Amino acid sequence: MLGVKKEDLPAVWADLNAAGMVSGAAYGKALRTVKTCVGTDWCRFGTQDSTGLGIRIERFMWGSWTPAKVKMAVSGCPRNCAEATCKDVGVICTDAGYEIHFAGAAGLDIKPTEVLTHVKTEEEALETIVALTQLYREQGHYLERMYKWLKRVGMESIRAAIVDDPGKRRHYFDRFVFSQQFSQRDPWADRASGGVARHEFEPMAAIGFQQAAE
Ligand code: SF4
Repeated sequence: MLGVKKEDLPAVWADLNAAGMVSGAAYGKALRTVKTCVGTDWCRFGTQDSTGLGIRIERFMWGSWTPAKVKMAVSGCPRNCAEATCKDVGVICTDAGYEIHFAGAAGLDIKPTEVLTHVKTEEEALETIVALTQLYREQGHYLERMYKWLKRVGMESIRAAIVDDPGKRRHYFDRFVFSQQFSQRDPWADRASGGVARHEFEPMAAIGFQQAAE
């Protein structure tokens, strides 16, 4: 939404929250809004419910902090209208299931994604994407986008953890789920509801200073 005055933002956030929407999650080093095409509901070429999967991924993963921003997209068929093949994580739906891509970029660096794996069900797609993101959260350096992380650690080690070993994939999935208990808080909702105006995190040095002062 363009043209909103800064002083009107808290009221806009409050309106969005009242309508059941999260407004303050898709910024910072975190998951951005998941882009989708219209999928089977609205397009004759659609092979799967790409919109539904995108919404599901976003609801499941919003609020999770990451080493650098994470952009995702889901396209309902290989025509790829959601441009999933230049995202950090992209899904191309096919008649046979879901092709999971990752490590793309479209900015100062431009790079197509790599194919991680192909899965048959939406459940498997969600588990794979979540586990991949958790592995990146644990291994990525601050400001290291996924494509740089892949270059550093290598495809073999990522596939070994996320594709070849279902137990390891579940392990990373479960760790992400555990962490989400503490992550899904809309920082702008706090301000919109009249709560204390504060940032969503405090720098380590400031915490140390406060503790020392107490
Ligand atoms: S990617 Fe395929 S299903 Fe999605 S809008 Fe484009 S043509 Fe339709």
